[in-house]
Formats: sequence, C-alpha cells, structure tokens
Amino acid sequence: MSFFGSLAVSKNPIKLVELDLGPRKIQIPVFDLQGKNGDGKTLLITAGMDGDEYAGMEAAYQFIEQFKMGDFCGRLIIIPCFNIPGFEAEESFNPLDMRHPRDTFPGTAQGKPTERLIYWLMNGYASSAHIWCDLHGGGGTERLRPFLWMFETGEPSIQLLAKQIMASLSANTIVSDKVSRWSKAVPLARRGCLYFMAESGDRRCADDGAVQHVKWMHSVMSLLHMISPTLTDQAQPSIVLKNLHFLRADFDGFWRPLQDMPVQIGRHDIIGMRMKIQKGVWNEVRISHAGQILYWKETHRMKRGEILAAIGY
Ligand SMILES: [Zn+2]
Repeated sequence: MSFFGSLAVSKNPIKLVELDLGPRKIQIPVFDLQGKNGDGKTLLITAGMDGDEYAGMEAAYQFIEQFKMGDFCGRLIIIPCFNIPGFEAEESFNPLDMRHPRDTFPGTAQGKPTERLIYWLMNGYASSAHIWCDLHGGGGTERLRPFLWMFETGEPSIQLLAKQIMASLSANTIVSDKVSRWSKAVPLARRGCLYFMAESGDRRCADDGAVQHVKWMHSVMSLLHMISPTLTDQAQPSIVLKNLHFLRADFDGFWRPLQDMPVQIGRHDIIGMRMKIQKGVWNEVRISHAGQILYWKETHRMKRGEILAAIGY
C-alpha cells in the first residue's frame, strides 16, 4: 500500500486519461487511489456529468486535495469533470451528439460520442464500485435547493445500503424515486453498485453547494468504513419525497419564475409567468401538484419541453 501512498505524495494525484469519442479525442481528469490504511470498499465519485454544474466539480477537486495522501481504507476514484465537451461548451449535454451522459446507459465502445464516454466509465470504474456518488446541482440556467436523489432498485442489499445512506447523510430533503429515471440505478444495483445523485449548489451559490457535497461525501466514506466516523455523520431529520412532478414548457417563448420562490407550493398556485414571442402578453403558470420545489429554471428564455420546475411530493 505504501507504493501507492508514495506515488500520491510525489506526483500530481490527478491523471489525464485520453479517450477517443469518434469526432475528437478528449482528456478526462481521473483520481484513482488505493488507500494506505488497508483494504476496503471502492467509492466512485463523479462530477460534471452535466457539464454546467460547477458546485459538484469544485467539491470533487476539494475532496481529491483532502484525500490525495491516501488516508483511508479501500479505493477512492474521483472523476471531477466528466463531460468534458459539455464543460467546454458550458452546457449540461454533450454537444458532440447533443445527448445527455446522465441519460445514457450502458454505452458502447464504438458508438456515438456520449455512448463511448459512458462505456469508458462503466467498464473502467463503475463496474468495480460499491457506491457511485454522482454529484449534481443547478445548471447554468437553474436554481436549486440541496437534496439527495435516491432510486428504489428492488435489490435487497442495495436497498439496505440506500436506507443507511438516507439515515446517515445529513440532508433536509431526500427524493426516493420509484422510477429508475436515468436508467442506470437498477442495472447497477444488480451488479452490486449503489448509484445515487447528490444535488447541491447553483450559479448563485456554488461555494455553499460544494461545502454540502463535501460533507455528504465524508459521510459516505464513513458509512463504508473507509474513514472513521466524523461529527458530520449526525443526520438531521429528513423529508422523504416519493414522487416527482416536472412542470415543462409547452411552447417556445419567455419565462419568468416567481422572484421569491417558496419552498412549498400549493396545487394551482402561480409559479411564474410565460409569454409567446408574437403576443406581448404575460400569462400565469400554475402548478398542478402541491409539493416542495426542488429546482427551477431561472433565466428567461423558455424552450418547449424543458423543465421549468421540479416538484417533489
Ligand atoms: Zn445534473
């Protein structure tokens, strides 16, 4: 184990790994270290799956700095900026094929750029992880309040681990999603890997968002016995939301969310205003489900089909 430890001391702990996506090659930063305190579980942390969500990336780099000396048991893999083409374009999707890496699974070696990107992650890293913690937050046009996004997979051992995470990570709000919405959680659970998304930070509060991410990741490492328990493991009571409603734009135009977005919203309450570009008249947008507002679009261009607000209930 000291071999890896000494490597970490003497060199930059982040390696750039070259990957051929077809139209172009990219270089992805990867931190992959065996802890010097003994064998143990493998934790995979990814950030920048959506290329414009910066709080998670910031947190991932901070976490690498904290653990680069290998003071933990097991193996810690951190990919702090995964969707490099999206990051370069300041977009959540991959502009090489306009697909979202978070919606793509399991990928193929010789497929479209996003499929190649995901295939590399699945076969090189996700396949060996016990927990995959995917750091997200508000995108470049969004506001977000922190929450954990868990998935009900039906795999007993993974469900048990998910319950432990929900009990030990200090999160005010948890979404326990019955749908494997981004299609990865169930197949990964069958392979023995718990996948979940940590949502924190947005354009206005990237630093606070990163602090929250780092606390959550510490708790996950503690839960996996990679580090000893810390004070941050004292969990607050959480609200667990079992359902999600996405308010989507039904035409292209203008959108203005409420300036002071409430945490809770009632059925048929106004959440914002919208306008067609040929009309010049604003209309109220009302919500069809009462619940807690998790994230919403803040900027004013409205594109048909996009999410204007996500409500948990
Ligand atoms: Zn995201």
